[in-house]
Amino acid sequence: SFNFCSGPAALPEAVLKKAQSELLDWHGAGVSVMEMSHRSSEFTSILESAKTRLIRLLDIPSNYEVLFVQGGASTLFAQIPANFIADHTSACYLDTGAWSAKAIKEAKKYTNVVVSGSTKDKNYTTVPAWDSLNLDENAAYLHLTPNETIGGVEFDDLPETDLPIIADLSSTILSRSIDVSKYGMIYAGAQKNVGPAGVVICIVRKDLLERCDNDRLPSTWSFANLAKNNSMINTPPTFAIYLADLVFEWLEGQGGVEAIEKVNEAKAERLYRAIDESKLYSNPIELKYRSRMNVPFVLADESLESLFLQESEEAGLKTLAGHRSVGGMRASIYNAMPMEGVDALIKFMQDFEMRHYG
Ligand code: PLP
Repeated sequence: SFNFCSGPAALPEAVLKKAQSELLDWHGAGVSVMEMSHRSSEFTSILESAKTRLIRLLDIPSNYEVLFVQGGASTLFAQIPANFIADHTSACYLDTGAWSAKAIKEAKKYTNVVVSGSTKDKNYTTVPAWDSLNLDENAAYLHLTPNETIGGVEFDDLPETDLPIIADLSSTILSRSIDVSKYGMIYAGAQKNVGPAGVVICIVRKDLLERCDNDRLPSTWSFANLAKNNSMINTPPTFAIYLADLVFEWLEGQGGVEAIEKVNEAKAERLYRAIDESKLYSNPIELKYRSRMNVPFVLADESLESLFLQESEEAGLKTLAGHRSVGGMRASIYNAMPMEGVDALIKFMQDFEMRHYG
């Protein structure tokens, strides 16, 4: 079967098998990774390995810190303004979908939010024109969400600005190459392209850490404190970090980000073509902003939706229901989804259309 869940999402089978083989006794240590002291040399080596592989995969420059943070990306929505507002009086946000909107809601508890551009009135089917943005050049930073997991909108290029750009890459990290040096900070919940839930990958430019006020921030919330303590102020989510390391190792074996990007491009292209060529299915997103990771689609005859979900489950195509806030269908096709999964989905969709909407 193939799992199209948006997150926690499918993991590469090879990773799960390796984790299974090491589950009870990691590298002869006589204990599971779950049972190790996070201060042990064994676990420290796992954490260092995960960090080193991520630095290699994304070509992260040396003026950035890699942090493993807990609380989910949603906690970061609050942690980011708490750490980086400092003596600024505002922060700029792009509003391109449900996750942007949640980030904005949390930030408003800490500062004045300038919504620099929004596509809410277009039902989040596109991205604001960069030359139309209302940027406050004295703001603390510009926050954006390059892949909206629910709406299925993705953009690759960044607005021109001197503000540090902070990006929620939860559902697109490691799926395409990026130039880390263009960002002040990148963060991503692990449970899509990195591993199981429980850890957030953060990549922070070191100069921004000077803004963190350790006298006022909760100790575990301070990015500066996390950096100083190698993400181990307290017990980190050890097993999630271990699995992230295995996923990074797997991705290196696939040829790295550039190689997987080509596969991701081909998968998305094939699925969108099948949608566009059909009479039953459609996707509303402006062509050049269609997400390669999350492909939402609706059925022209809504009354067929529950049958579609029932039959697709029976065919081994799991979790195709759209987010509860928008309905319809959504196929999440992250790095771990092989081309065969996409082909199986397309074949099912065509067959379903022929039988019920001919
Ligand atoms: N940001 C994006 C883009 C997401 O897709 C998600 C979860 O799906 C989140 C944030 C929230 O992540 P978490 O559930 O880890 O808080």
